Parts: sequence; structure tokens; C-alpha cells
Amino acid sequence: MSAPVTDEITLSTECTLGERPGYDDVHGLCRQNRDIPLPHSNGVLLVRRCECTCHWGE
Ligand SMILES: [Zn+2]
Ligand SMILES: [Zn+2]
Repeated sequence: MSAPVTDEITLSTECTLGERPGYDDVHGLCRQNRDIPLPHSNGVLLVRRCECTCHWGE
């Protein structure tokens, strides 16, 4: 059984992997703690901020 996943939460590749048992360290590799806008666009995001709980408090 796995924990229920809310697909409204955006996780980076690292933190998605970090959710899995035995991969906790991978959370530390995630640097996606802010939105990255697409250059020369008006508010279009290239990368969405990772909403993993490991970034809370940053
Ligand atoms: Zn994380
Ligand atoms: Zn993350």
C-alpha cells in the first residue's frame, strides 16, 4: 500500500523519487524551490516550483 497522492501538488523529479522508500537523500538534490519563468514571456513558467514538504521553511 502506498500513501494517497494528491496530483495538485507539483514535485520535481528529485522529490518525486525522494518520496519512495530508501530514496530520502534525493530530496537534498532538489533546487526547484522557486518558479522559473520562461525568458521573454509574460508570466509563463518554464518550471513550476516544487511543492514538496521538504522545502517548507525555505
Ligand atoms: Zn522533497
Ligand atoms: Zn523539491
